[in-house]
Amino acid sequence: MDRALQRLERVLELEKQQGYQNKAVVGGIRQFAVFWVTQANEEAADEADHALAEQVSEVLMEYGRLSGAEARARAIDSLLASLERRRSRRPQAPPPARSAPPRRQPAPPPPRTAEVAAGPATAAAPSAPPVDEELDEELASAPEAALEPERPPAASDPLGLTQPVTALKGVGQKIAERLNRIGPQTIWELLYLFPRRYDDYTLMKPISKLNYGEQVTVIGTIWQTRTRKTRINQSIVECIVNDGTGTVQATWFNQPWLADQLPAGLQIVLSGKVDLFLGRLVFNSPEWEPLELEPLRTRRIVPIYPLTEGLTASKMRELMQRTVREWAERVPDPLPIETRRRLHLYSLAYALQQMHFPESHEALRQARRRLAFDELFLLQLGVQRQRREWLQYTALPLVAPPERYETFLAALPFSLTAAQQRVVDEIRADMTQSRPMNRLLQGDVGSGKTIVAAAAMVAAVDAGAQSALMAPTEILAEQHYRGLRQLLEPLGIHVSLLTGSTPAAERAVILSGLADGSIHIAIGTHALIQPPVTFHRLALAVIDEQHRFGVDQRAALRQKGPQVGEDAISPHLLVMSATPIPRTLALSLYGDLDLSVLDEMPPGRQEIKTRWLRASERERAYNFIRRQTAEGRQAYIIYPLVEESDSIDARAAVEEFERLSREVFPDRRLGLVHGRLRANEKDEAMRAFAAGGSDVLVATSVIEVGVDVPNSTIIVIEGADRFGLAQLHQFRGRVGRGEHQSYCILIAEDVSAEAEQRLAALEATNDGFVLAERDLELRGPGEFFGSRQSGLPELRLASLLHDVEVLDMAQREAAALFAADPQLEWPEHALLRDRLEAFWRQAGDVS
Ligand code: ADP
Ligand code: MG
Repeated sequence: MDRALQRLERVLELEKQQGYQNKAVVGGIRQFAVFWVTQANEEAADEADHALAEQVSEVLMEYGRLSGAEARARAIDSLLASLERRRSRRPQAPPPARSAPPRRQPAPPPPRTAEVAAGPATAAAPSAPPVDEELDEELASAPEAALEPERPPAASDPLGLTQPVTALKGVGQKIAERLNRIGPQTIWELLYLFPRRYDDYTLMKPISKLNYGEQVTVIGTIWQTRTRKTRINQSIVECIVNDGTGTVQATWFNQPWLADQLPAGLQIVLSGKVDLFLGRLVFNSPEWEPLELEPLRTRRIVPIYPLTEGLTASKMRELMQRTVREWAERVPDPLPIETRRRLHLYSLAYALQQMHFPESHEALRQARRRLAFDELFLLQLGVQRQRREWLQYTALPLVAPPERYETFLAALPFSLTAAQQRVVDEIRADMTQSRPMNRLLQGDVGSGKTIVAAAAMVAAVDAGAQSALMAPTEILAEQHYRGLRQLLEPLGIHVSLLTGSTPAAERAVILSGLADGSIHIAIGTHALIQPPVTFHRLALAVIDEQHRFGVDQRAALRQKGPQVGEDAISPHLLVMSATPIPRTLALSLYGDLDLSVLDEMPPGRQEIKTRWLRASERERAYNFIRRQTAEGRQAYIIYPLVEESDSIDARAAVEEFERLSREVFPDRRLGLVHGRLRANEKDEAMRAFAAGGSDVLVATSVIEVGVDVPNSTIIVIEGADRFGLAQLHQFRGRVGRGEHQSYCILIAEDVSAEAEQRLAALEATNDGFVLAERDLELRGPGEFFGSRQSGLPELRLASLLHDVEVLDMAQREAAALFAADPQLEWPEHALLRDRLEAFWRQAGDVS
């Protein structure tokens, strides 16, 4: 029984090497035992061998239940010792002369798959169980156990792959339409339609060992099949299946035709969950296949695809199996083979095959790893390319005597927090360089980013240059203008405001002031990056609430730097964001930016108390507003996005404003802002509110970001379930900006389960970072960042939160690749360059 023992020994050694995780063989040691004992008994030369086989199998069967590496290590060592003893008993074991009758039931024949057959040269003799093929593969290439077997690369066929799915056999117009509904239009896209999940039927057992509730495969012979009707005229097909160790009944409902397909005597494979019926173990509607068929839905990890009406699970599976078999090999692999080997990554073809029809858990894991790598790698390449391009620009080094900057600090009504001080230092150091700063300043709502920007702009002006600050809304631009002018004009710094609604005459004056340099700081909206705007010497550009801007706008602002001789000089760039992205994430997404974080709130801030009320409790919110305003505080009432339409939102706000003024707060001063007001009307309302001239501001989402009125302590958000988590957090950030205890009241009724989670999360924490992670979990990165806003492509498989190892690898590889081949010109990188363009095209511009 030397072969069996050798095999055993390798498994044990591997298991030992892997730290006793019960993963040396697919499906666990226990499953291996079932196969192994049969083989061992067949090869056994004498009674002592049979006894050894029994003893080994007993230990193996229990191995998975041993908890702790220590107990498992003892078990394995005792087995290895037994093997050693046998070796010394039979120094030169002759090959087995005869084959002893197996003592147990015949082992199920090997579950072999198309992929195995097509794959490794290690494909074993038909009688070898699959665990061994896996094992041989793993051992052959250990420690790169995960690597696929060597194969000559198949000819790729990008043209063929871009054919519509109707080019596939058996796919007509009807099926194509149904597929289109889930997404795929072309064969290539179909290959990337991955299973939603998998059912694991790799665990094979003799019937006598079945346990209630387990997901398992059995192989046996049909003893009897009968059809009966229930009282409500349902037809039931019942099959009694026996495998030599016992019998089990399988039942199918309302599929009377099955009776003909399941004749007595047929060898059959059943996969499903073991159920209980009248005290006996049964299978209800299991997956089944005749034994002689290649496994598709039993005996393996079975893919479960997203379904659409008119495409059944089995049809979908058959279609995918054919498609994968014919086409996966022809998908060109953009990763050079050398890279793949070094990183222990599957080839793309093999990864696609395994993603759809995994041969094992490990293969599935590796397939996912490879495909996630592709996404993250392309993401990193794009981001890093942008950074490289950016680094080729030159900038004006800004060095200046610090007098005015000191005066500015001294004039502030507060002193900077340590975090603000640190970030200002980082920024000022960047700006003394002749390569442009490209920095992301991240700080939760209310952390005091504006003053950091102001400090940087003062430093730039000190050095004889101009600065610009771009905000996403006019309201915010105006607020910045008011605040900064008040702060900076006394220092002799000339500040101007330029928005879409700046009157023409004033506009002309500003444009010439910017062009001749008499205006030092320009504050504004998108209007700042319009073509007629030219600066005399723009050296610092600040973008506030950058998540509201795209990559293009960043680029457009960069273009506004001065021309010195032949050279276009780029301004230093500071982008500010309250979207709290976990640090590692920020680095990988904005790898083209350096990161500064304001991780400290100005002193004296209190937690904003957040409550979610039903519509019927609205009166409580009003009472609360009455009390707060009686004490001299101010309040916001926000009306929701009714539609993506300004006018309807505005109407809701206007109507409510009238009702509130008449019926609810007749003795309070109410203000109103919404998107349909003219700029000066908006400005008027905001000014009045900021100056304490109104008690309650009724508003739409126009005040979502940035608005800063520290005396307001309560915000009521109507229809709160219609806003996203990040948005709600932004709204809430309008209060809690001063020393007074602040409150946020969310009003929502009949909310979806998902909205309920958002509102509950908001009640539970004020921490923007915690909320961001929660949001990522709820929505996934694609939606979280919103590719339109962030300029980032969608990730389908990779998780920026969880695939840390792969992300890391992708980052390093991208850097190494650019170091070696900056323009991606090498022939082996041609495919990669294509994929890179395609990947980023879906996100808009790479710029
Ligand atoms: P955000 O980061 O959301 O843009 P702001 O810059 O609007 O925050 O600042 C929020 C509020 O905190 C403002 O009223 C600002 O004057 C105040 N503030 C900023 N820094 C400090 C500080 N160091 N000490 C006290 N108050 C500060
Ligand atoms: Mg701000």
